[in-house]
Amino acid sequence: MRVCIDAGHGGRDPGAIGRQPFELAEKEVTLAVALLLEQELEARGHWAVMTRRCDRSLSLSARAAFANRLGAEVFVSVHANAAASAEAQGMEVFHFPGSPRGQLLAGEILRSLLRLEGHRDRGVKEANFAVLRLTRMPAVVVECEFLTHPAGLEFLADPESQRALAERIADGIESFETHLGTP
Ligand SMILES: [Zn+2]
Repeated sequence: MRVCIDAGHGGRDPGAIGRQPFELAEKEVTLAVALLLEQELEARGHWAVMTRRCDRSLSLSARAAFANRLGAEVFVSVHANAAASAEAQGMEVFHFPGSPRGQLLAGEILRSLLRLEGHRDRGVKEANFAVLRLTRMPAVVVECEFLTHPAGLEFLADPESQRALAERIADGIESFETHLGTP
């Protein structure tokens, strides 16, 4: 499958910043998980491209245009969540409103992520995000845990967890591919 992997934020845009028990910027987590996802997909024989492979600024429209130009079959944007309350936790995956294939991809990725223990199911949700609206293929924004929750931040900072997230997202993409092939 031709997968465009988008590490959320970058460069001048750090994304959310977690501060407890230590400081961590979303753009660092998203890049780490995205690079591991690229490795994981390539190891499984898929074709993967990254919208960014280093800490650089990139507009939302440029991310979508890149995926469209390359003819990616799916677009997966990796993010970490934040909330005003330090109690918010869990995982959620967004797709564009009224996109059945986006919804299927979101559902398979979330189901796979929730096989990791100890994470709340916040559900599959619709959102009119630019990267979802401007991409021509099934596209999702994956929100892996909360940087604003102390345990969530520790989870997101841990290389083992980042590897596990990448593996689960890859499983979800493969499961989506299997479902597409089934009439
Ligand atoms: Zn984000």
